[in-house]
Amino acid sequence: MIQLEAIRKDYQRRGQILTAFACESQQIEDGEYVAIVGPSGSGKTTLLSMLGGMLSPTTGRVLVDGISLYEHSVAERSAIRGQKMGFVFQSFNLIPYLSALQNVQVPLSFTTTSASEQLERATEMLTQLGLAERLHHKPSELSVGQQQRVALARTLVNDPQIILADEPTGNLDPTSREVVLEIFEQCHQQGRTLVVVTHDPSVAQRATRRLTLVDGMLVRAEDASSNASPQVAAA
Ligand code: ADP
Ligand code: MG
Repeated sequence: MIQLEAIRKDYQRRGQILTAFACESQQIEDGEYVAIVGPSGSGKTTLLSMLGGMLSPTTGRVLVDGISLYEHSVAERSAIRGQKMGFVFQSFNLIPYLSALQNVQVPLSFTTTSASEQLERATEMLTQLGLAERLHHKPSELSVGQQQRVALARTLVNDPQIILADEPTGNLDPTSREVVLEIFEQCHQQGRTLVVVTHDPSVAQRATRRLTLVDGMLVRAEDASSNASPQVAAA
């Protein structure tokens, strides 16, 4: 479970303080598929980064399975992240001089996984994502959609319980977009927690809950299974 407690994130801009995100209390249960939607500049990336242990809030706490992320050292925090979380970004951050297979093996190389098992698991992940014929291609030899799939394989190869994605389908061709969404669906069915920032209403529609941000505030917590009128979230 991920919990936010009395969170606020301020940035300094031209000598002024800008509150990019604020929230009194919010939680994401294990196995939820949550979409974060809202206009550009509304604080989506700020929120996701704080959930992922990558950006400390100005005040408040983020708890992941009861562990308060920002009350730990940077090293401890990155260990917690490595154990529990996987990230998918719009820019894929693939290593340009490594093949698809090698890129996917990178996270495993920080674990005790043997070389042969690394190879096996990376191959299996890429095959699941429809890239069996592209194992030895470098990122520059792949389409944007294929690159995103390699990045997704690299995220999933570590078997993260929580997946955080920022505009993961942003620039994708329809086929790759569909592959990414199907994989998310599978991850959801496997009981993983997904938090996906998206501009795309059809992506948001697949989630089981949507959080809408406007000017750094959660304005609506809407449950996909109910058609009740929107409620104002505790914010
Ligand atoms: P979104 O992802 O919804 O587009 P962001 O979380 O990136 O929104 O940004 C929220 C607000 O915070 C915006 O007004 C943005 O300009 C501002 N902001 C984001 N990062 C910084 C930063 N490092 N320094 C100053 N302002 C920032
Ligand atoms: Mg953003």
